[in-house]
Amino acid sequence: MAEQKKGCFSILWKVALVILLLLAAAIYWFFYDNRAPSDGEYKLDIAAIRVEADKIEGEKPSAIEVETPWISDAPKIAFVAGTSWDDIAMSGNSYRVVLPGGAVIIDAALDPKTAEEWGSKFDDGAWNRMLTAMSEASHIVITHEHADHIGGLMHNPDLKALRPKLRLTPEQIALPNKSNERPWPEGAFDGLTPTTYDSLLAIAPGVVLIKAPGHTPGTHMIYVQRVDGQEYLFMGDIVSMADNMKLQRIRSRAITDLMTMEDRDEVFRQTKALLTLSKAEPNIVMIPGHDLAAVEAIVKKGLIKNGFTRQAP
Ligand SMILES: [Zn+2]
Repeated sequence: MAEQKKGCFSILWKVALVILLLLAAAIYWFFYDNRAPSDGEYKLDIAAIRVEADKIEGEKPSAIEVETPWISDAPKIAFVAGTSWDDIAMSGNSYRVVLPGGAVIIDAALDPKTAEEWGSKFDDGAWNRMLTAMSEASHIVITHEHADHIGGLMHNPDLKALRPKLRLTPEQIALPNKSNERPWPEGAFDGLTPTTYDSLLAIAPGVVLIKAPGHTPGTHMIYVQRVDGQEYLFMGDIVSMADNMKLQRIRSRAITDLMTMEDRDEVFRQTKALLTLSKAEPNIVMIPGHDLAAVEAIVKKGLIKNGFTRQAP
């Protein structure tokens, strides 16, 4: 009897140890693994981007403004692999690039209903100012086709009226993609000519789209050169948090492999190219997708204005 009990305990210990080891391996894999690919390169040619920025004649943007409809907390390690389990503040922003007689809206945040489901803080005033600015804008672009960047389109009562100013690529229109995003409203883009390009595309004086699939198939970055020469690069969720670039640590596999289904290798290559650019050109304002503290610091320096202004009639 005693021998039987001893054998039973021994098996239980072994099973517990195996479970513990599997758990440790899973935690390592999903939150700490950050191996970058040893091959390939993402080419980010700033000289070519500057040439493209001059292609459309006219006065370049005078200012950039930001609205922040939602803010959420999340463990840093989920969004910057292998770092801290402490919470970080993440913001969902929309930007207004002010042009003479028009504006380019970059990203359209997350809608109030989904923000509530996600447990985020939501600013109705910022949301409404964003919707108004979208109606008044000359161009609307998104960094990529995820719910937290397209809320103002997906849930816009005037979406059909916005069609002439939408610069969406075929990949961005082709929702739902493999990341389980909700589909666009039925017929939302009927008659819309998608924006197609190879690597760079000027859409307004000083405003250039830079193709960068990886985080999603339709991801691109947006370069802006102000009339006074100040340059900006909206990195979207290639760099959600500034530390993705600074530390060369991308989002954890818990996000990239279970939720967003990203091409991690390509995101690593892009993140490396962005760090190289930021070191070579420290005056370019590099704007991460969701880093509240980083965006607040940029606003504090006066490089982006807080709050959308109304379009002059
Ligand atoms: Zn995002």
